[in-house]
Amino acid sequence: MPELTPTIGAFVSIEKGRLQNVMDALKAAGYTLVGPTLDEGAIVYDEIEGVADLPRGWTDRQEPASYRLQRREDDAYFGYVVGPHSWKKFLLPPRRTLMRVVKKEGAFVVVDEEEPAPRYAFIGVRGCEMQAIHIQDRVFLGGPYQDPGYRARRQQAFVLAVNCTEPGGTCFCASMGTGPEVGLGYDLALTELDDIFIVEIGSELGATMMRETDWRPAGAFELQQARDALAEARRNMGRQLDTTDLPNLLYKNLEHARWDQVADRCLSCGNCTMVCPTCFCQDVLDVSDLKGETFERVWVWDSCFSIDYSHVHGGNIRPHTRARYRQWLTHKFASWIDQFGVIGCVGCGRCITWCPVGIDVTEEIDAIRGEV
Ligand code: SF4
Ligand code: SF4
Repeated sequence: MPELTPTIGAFVSIEKGRLQNVMDALKAAGYTLVGPTLDEGAIVYDEIEGVADLPRGWTDRQEPASYRLQRREDDAYFGYVVGPHSWKKFLLPPRRTLMRVVKKEGAFVVVDEEEPAPRYAFIGVRGCEMQAIHIQDRVFLGGPYQDPGYRARRQQAFVLAVNCTEPGGTCFCASMGTGPEVGLGYDLALTELDDIFIVEIGSELGATMMRETDWRPAGAFELQQARDALAEARRNMGRQLDTTDLPNLLYKNLEHARWDQVADRCLSCGNCTMVCPTCFCQDVLDVSDLKGETFERVWVWDSCFSIDYSHVHGGNIRPHTRARYRQWLTHKFASWIDQFGVIGCVGCGRCITWCPVGIDVTEEIDAIRGEV
C-alpha cells in the first residue's frame, strides 16, 4: 500500500475487490452507504452493506415505457444505466414531518423531536445525477429561504460517483452537457474497466477514504482505456436533444397544436415527475389520528400533473392535461432558467422510460421545433 494519501485531482487505479475497503472506510467514518441494488425487477437505490449488494453482472434495457433487467456477459458492478429512483429520495424524502402536536393531560403540546440528519455516502452517482443534485442545491439552498432539512443532509453527503460507460436507450445527457462523465462536486469518481477501477480523487475527504486501500497511480494505457470508454458511451447515447434557444422556442409556441396531441396520450399520472431527479413540486398537509389526539403537519412530494396542485383561490388554473403537460415541459426547459439560471433537465431519460404511454420529451420538443 502506498504510504501517501493520493492528492486531489490524481487518477489512481485499484483492483475491483478493493472497493470494499473504501466502503468499509466510509462506514467506519459513520456513513450509511446507499447505492444501487436489485429489488423487484429493477435496480434501485437503497441502503447497502458493501460490494456484494451491488447489481454485479446485471444491466437494464430501456426504451419508452419499457424497462427490463438483463444478465450481462461480464461481471461489471456498474454496467447499468439509472433506475426509477434518484438521490432526491434521500436528500429530499417524499414525506417529512414538520411539526407534531399531541394531546397531553387535556392540553395540546408541540412535540419537538427533530431527528438528526442521516450521514449518507451515495455510491454510484452518475454525471446526470450529479448535475441534478447541483440543480436541487440551487432550488433549496440558492435563495433567501433555504430548506434546513435538505441543507443538513446535503452538507453531510459523501459522493462516490461513477462515469457512465453504458448509456441507455432513453439517455440524452451528452446533449444536455451533463454526462456521460461526471462533472464537479464528487469526492471520488470511478471509471470501471475490465479488471480495475480508475479512481479520480475529487476532495480531501475522498483522498482520506482511499488511505485504507491498495492503490497505485493509474497508467497511461489505463487512462486511455477510460477515455475511450467514455467516447464510446457518447457515441452510443440513445437520444439527443437540440437545446438551441429552447426558452424562446417554447415561449413562442404556447398554442402549438402539438400540445393537444400530447394531451390526448398523456394520462396525467405524474410518473414523469416522481422519477425525475430535479422535479420538486411539494405540498404541506395537516393530518390527525382518528382519536384526535395527535396532529401532524407533513411536507410531501406533489406533482404539477395532479389536479389539486393547480387549484388556487377561485378555481383551477390548469384544469386540463394540455395545460399541465405544457406547464411541466415549459418549466423544465424554459422558465426554470429564468428562476434558477439553469435548465431543469439533465437528460437522464427516466421520464421517457417510466411514462406508461411512452411520451418522449425529446420527441415533443423536436415536434414543436418542426422536426418531426
Ligand atoms: S425531465 Fe426527464 S430526462 Fe430530464 S431530468 Fe427529468 S426525468 Fe430526466
Ligand atoms: S407524460 Fe407520461 S408519465 Fe408524465 S403524466 Fe403524462 S402519461 Fe404520466
